[in-house]
Amino acid sequence: MKKKKVIDEIYIPDVGSQVETIDGKEYLITNDAMYTFFRRTKGEFSAFFLALKNEKRLLGCKCTKCGIVRVPPFLTHCPDCNFAPTEMIEVEQVGIMNSTPPITYFATSLFQHMAPYGRGRVIFKGADTAMSINLYTTTGILVPGIITKGTEVKLIFRDERIGEMTDVFCVPTAELTQEKITKNGLQESEIDWETPQEPLLPIASEEESNQYRKALDEMKDLIEDMNRNESARKAIAGWKRDIQIKTRGGQFAIRIDDGDITLTESVVSSPDFIMVCDDIHTLLDGLAYRGAITDSVINKKIWISKNMEFNTIFKLDRMARFLVRSKKV
Ligand SMILES: [Zn+2]
Repeated sequence: MKKKKVIDEIYIPDVGSQVETIDGKEYLITNDAMYTFFRRTKGEFSAFFLALKNEKRLLGCKCTKCGIVRVPPFLTHCPDCNFAPTEMIEVEQVGIMNSTPPITYFATSLFQHMAPYGRGRVIFKGADTAMSINLYTTTGILVPGIITKGTEVKLIFRDERIGEMTDVFCVPTAELTQEKITKNGLQESEIDWETPQEPLLPIASEEESNQYRKALDEMKDLIEDMNRNESARKAIAGWKRDIQIKTRGGQFAIRIDDGDITLTESVVSSPDFIMVCDDIHTLLDGLAYRGAITDSVINKKIWISKNMEFNTIFKLDRMARFLVRSKKV
């Protein structure tokens, strides 16, 4: 007798592949099975992950014959030496980027809470191979150019560790004091994330000041429009942020408060983050849905003081999009 399966056969596609043509280009689609929520052992990697989690140490494996040190220690026997055994050793927590890390700004839901982050390969002192790791900066938003191939970086441990690769990440040593660079097991809470280097703005000419006034008036109308628009309000539901915005012509504040958005010509005493936008038109264009604000951040036309606030920028883009769309209907 055939056993009845939990998921009916008709919902399980045959293993195989097909080609789909979109805009004249062929794409290969394969059927794969996906499983979720399972227990698995870290097996012979346990020592490596336990050392990260409990002792804040970075381990590698050293071949007893040729001496090559692999980090992480993914081999118990060396394939270069007819499978001579390897032994666990500790390596240093400072290393060099051996490639320029790509930056992920728009992550899948699984990694969204970590974005934006760089993902690159680091050769730690004492190791011969590179380890894949997430990268951050303490100087504000992570943009291309801060960490490149050859940049010296420091291993940082999360305060809460569970024994995963995400327990650790790296920041450039150039952003740390000598004392912190040499300290082993340095934790994220020991790093100064609160004093990023704000870009300096030139003093505005009279012509630029006039243009600033005009653009600011336009922005005020736009923000009022957003505040009245039900669709736009949905993009910032449940979100609360005080943003201080500095431009060449002057500064103002945008306050987001669970659907409400307001612009005031004031200085907030303790803003959630600071935005520096040399030309106010860059931000105005973004809010008016003439190009995305996220793009301006990535292209370094807009600087924000906290990396994780890219999330808020993303919401402002959505507001702009929702406003324009609701007006088309
Ligand atoms: Zn070997």
